[in-house]
Amino acid sequence: MFCKNCGQALDNGVRFCPNCGTETTAGVPVPPAASDPVAPRPATYAPPRDRKEKSIALILCLFFGCFGVHKLYLKEQKEGCVMLVIGLFGLFLLIPLLVTGIWSLINLIQLLTMGSEEFDRKYNC
Ligand SMILES: [Zn+2]
Repeated sequence: MFCKNCGQALDNGVRFCPNCGTETTAGVPVPPAASDPVAPRPATYAPPRDRKEKSIALILCLFFGCFGVHKLYLKEQKEGCVMLVIGLFGLFLLIPLLVTGIWSLINLIQLLTMGSEEFDRKYNC
């Protein structure tokens, strides 16, 4: 190895250059470049998009489907609101709840049979 300051040939393991006294890198770990304070941080981080997860839509449909919650989640506000209103009426009248129950069951089957690619095409673009 050689002195990084003056180029003097050094014995391996020597900590200081006998010629100029510069500390050698022997035994001293080279600091990683990432610790350089002026190095810009890699700009790979991007905030996650408002991505719809099919699994979440399925769970919402399964448990709150009668109130159209899965539709609201999938940004289908109009249909979701209609189901929500009918579903809330259904709390008192039962029959509307049956309607949205069947409705959400259809949605559930649609979601289950829908491939992730189709799901992405429909809700994530
Ligand atoms: Zn030297």
